[in-house]
Amino acid sequence: MQLFGSYDVVVTGAGSAGIVAAIRAAREGASVLLVEGTGFLGGLITGGRLTKPTGLINSPVFHEMLDRCVGYKGADGRVRESYWGKYTGTFDAEVMQRVIIEMVEEAGVEVLLRASVVQTVMQDDAVCGLIVRAKSGESLVLGKAFVDASGDGDVAALSGGHFKLGREADGLTQPITSYFRVLNVDVPALIADCEAHRDDMWEVVYPAEATLNEDFAMAVLLTGFQQRIKDKVREGFDWIIPKDHITMKTGLMPGEISVNVTRYQGNGLNDRDLSRAEIEIRKQAYCAFDFLQRYVGGFADAIFLEVAPKLGVRETRRIVGAYEITEADVRGNRRFEDGIGLCNSPVDVHEPGGSRAIMDHVGVGYGIPYRAMIPQDIDNLIIAGRCISADAIAFGSTRNVPACTMTGEAAGIATALAAGQGQRTSGIHVSQIQARLRELQVWLGTPDSDVPAILATTTGSVSVEATHL
Ligand SMILES: Cc1cc2nc3c(=O)[nH]c(=O)nc-3n(C[C@H](O)[C@H](O)[C@H](O)COP(=O)(O)OP(=O)(O)OC[C@H]3O[C@@H](n4cnc5c(N)ncnc54)[C@H](O)[C@@H]3O)c2cc1C
Repeated sequence: MQLFGSYDVVVTGAGSAGIVAAIRAAREGASVLLVEGTGFLGGLITGGRLTKPTGLINSPVFHEMLDRCVGYKGADGRVRESYWGKYTGTFDAEVMQRVIIEMVEEAGVEVLLRASVVQTVMQDDAVCGLIVRAKSGESLVLGKAFVDASGDGDVAALSGGHFKLGREADGLTQPITSYFRVLNVDVPALIADCEAHRDDMWEVVYPAEATLNEDFAMAVLLTGFQQRIKDKVREGFDWIIPKDHITMKTGLMPGEISVNVTRYQGNGLNDRDLSRAEIEIRKQAYCAFDFLQRYVGGFADAIFLEVAPKLGVRETRRIVGAYEITEADVRGNRRFEDGIGLCNSPVDVHEPGGSRAIMDHVGVGYGIPYRAMIPQDIDNLIIAGRCISADAIAFGSTRNVPACTMTGEAAGIATALAAGQGQRTSGIHVSQIQARLRELQVWLGTPDSDVPAILATTTGSVSVEATHL
């Protein structure tokens, strides 16, 4: 088999977690290969058009990505607050793609696109190589340390790692959802409609001083329409979507709206389900568009732009790590001695097999323990992103972009340290990673660390009772 190359650090998956891990490892001095199955960078945050990180950003690399988006007028960088907590504003997917290319190239990360990891090469219990399949066939990639940021935990699973899939009772995962985008919406008329139906809306966030379409760009969040859907179905509208409410946000272009409403219950690791989801989700998006045009203010002249090109798979494997983050940890704001990042992302669970969703505020947040990134029984591999070790409800928080990017930072530092010191990743003590994160001014979420002022002033009501779907 052909040898593709030999690197200090090999990162699988170029989503938010993998991008941060690759850039961080390269900035720490490692030679890095970033292997990605699709033809673009960013994973869900670009291809899935998931452009609203829920929670405060605690990854310096991701912070810089957002700042650079602001520089290109593709984000406003404002901190906002909703009923589920504080978060940093939305960005434009293509501007983010531009920024990622810029930063990856500046850091000297080599990128291999349209290449899937299909096998791992092990030495005892440690990963030492990957087999990747691309257009020209299969080749071998050797590395000193590896990051699994595939979202699906593919590298860990291929290495024999244990994983969990779905909730304990029935194994069902959160449904698959793709955003769709619409242009030419009269946003002031839409807001007026939502204000007129305030009792049917859970969330109506917009700049009070705004009047023109352009004033609302990237600054509006609307969730609700539950009663309206019910009423119109009773009147005969054929609502084919197994979800009882709609969420939408404005994009960069004046009059651009992204809609989150589609829902397909399937296993994101099953080829037949994935294929079916692509089709059914498009049919649902067309249905929701018809609904909006007919029954919601501001949509009369709207133009359907696109369904996000990357399927919105929320949940697949959660790799079993040295520690599993629990619902009690998240809701109880637990801190850990091995914390690598304080996370205030809400518990965002879309009901597996059902139509509801919860979005529970977690107050000032919890620490993400490094052990949740270390797969049981596998050495030389660090997990980053949504597939870290968490129970099904804690996952509702850890899957959010802020947490994914925090784990990317820690994974980049851990693997660069291991490669630099000629050790396996198990030879790196978390205190070394924390020391570097402290230098980078990351809020660690350890018992002794302070709560940043911005979180201490959180005004939203903290959900102390577990909400179960
Ligand atoms: C509909 C929806 C709405 C969401 N809304 C929000 C929100 O409002 N706020 C928020 O913060 N979060 C939200 N999320 C969650 C968040 O977007 C994701 O959990 C997060 O972006 C995941 O990042 P990641 O890097 O772990 O994975 P991904 O972005 O999925 O990246 C993984 C990458 O790995 C690649 N890959 C997979 N397997 C292989 C392989 N074998 N070989 C090579 N490459 C591979 C994939 O192609 C992909 O590019 C939402 C998610 C969905 C689906």
